[in-house]
Amino acid sequence: MKAPSFSYIKPGSLNDVFALLERHGDRARVLAGGQSLLASLNLRLSTPELLVDITGVPDLAGITVSGKSVRIGALTTHRQIERSPDIAQHLPLLAQAVRHVAHVAIRNVGTFGGSIALADPAAEYPACAVALEATIVLAGRGAERRVKAREFFRGLYETALRPGELVIAGEFPLSGDGYRSVFLELARRRGDYAIVGLAAHARLSGGRISDARLAFLGAASTPVLALRAAAALEGRPPDAQTIAAAQAALGNELETSADLYCSRATKLHLARVLLGRALGALSA
Ligand SMILES: Cc1cc2nc3c(=O)[nH]c(=O)nc-3n(C[C@H](O)[C@H](O)[C@H](O)COP(=O)(O)OP(=O)(O)OC[C@H]3O[C@@H](n4cnc5c(N)ncnc54)[C@H](O)[C@@H]3O)c2cc1C
Repeated sequence: MKAPSFSYIKPGSLNDVFALLERHGDRARVLAGGQSLLASLNLRLSTPELLVDITGVPDLAGITVSGKSVRIGALTTHRQIERSPDIAQHLPLLAQAVRHVAHVAIRNVGTFGGSIALADPAAEYPACAVALEATIVLAGRGAERRVKAREFFRGLYETALRPGELVIAGEFPLSGDGYRSVFLELARRRGDYAIVGLAAHARLSGGRISDARLAFLGAASTPVLALRAAAALEGRPPDAQTIAAAQAALGNELETSADLYCSRATKLHLARVLLGRALGALSA
């Protein structure tokens, strides 16, 4: 199918974007890389009258490392994240995850902010942002605000974004010494959205795990932070007994949703398998 007809505008400043969004309300949609939005227009899942292309707004792209955090601008492409030495050095979880995002042609144009704003439950960045305790920076006309990633993703494709607001950036705190990251996912084909995935980040010191953050993607309508499984790991060596205890705890807390391909039970089984693999990889 072809997209319904729409008007298109490419403003050159954030203020112009905000003014347009205010004037046109829910008849307008923000366009970034277009890798999800244009497909939804072609399928007639969305019928906006105006697309506001934000790729002409300066200063929304780029990766900056400061004393305490790494800031990723909304218009930074997946490919820029994949190729960034700063991401490889400071956010190895994201460096692993981005290789699972679609294919190179899509990664060349799809953006960090677009993925965060879309909040697909099977997308990689939202789970990484939750695991790494990132903050999502939002801006609307005259005001900027910061929302913890864990509070940003509210439901199926539902976020804390208010009408007229944009995702401006994500801020990821730098981890201290001894932290390790593992990103794993199961997909039907390389480049597909995950059936289930796991973004795992934890400290390993003296052969013991602490401060584990285990965020599952594809398991439910938002990224799910597995707090009981993490508690089962605290202060323990990553041996077979600990892994079994964490997998059992996961079974008591992860409320999976079925999709077209997998039942809830299958998803839970796969999540447990990924947890076991991730703990093995963390300690390798
Ligand atoms: C075949 C295929 C496979 C894919 N596989 C994966 C995958 O495995 N994992 C994955 O994560 N993604 C996948 N994607 C999606 C891809 O990562 C998109 O790039 C991404 O989801 C959206 O980014 P975009 O810049 O293209 O946003 P767009 O498509 O332009 O916009 C997406 C939505 O976000 C809104 N939006 C965009 N930017 C902002 C902003 N800064 N502030 C507020 N709202 C904004 C738009 O209004 C729209 O509603 C796939 C896409 C395709 C076509």
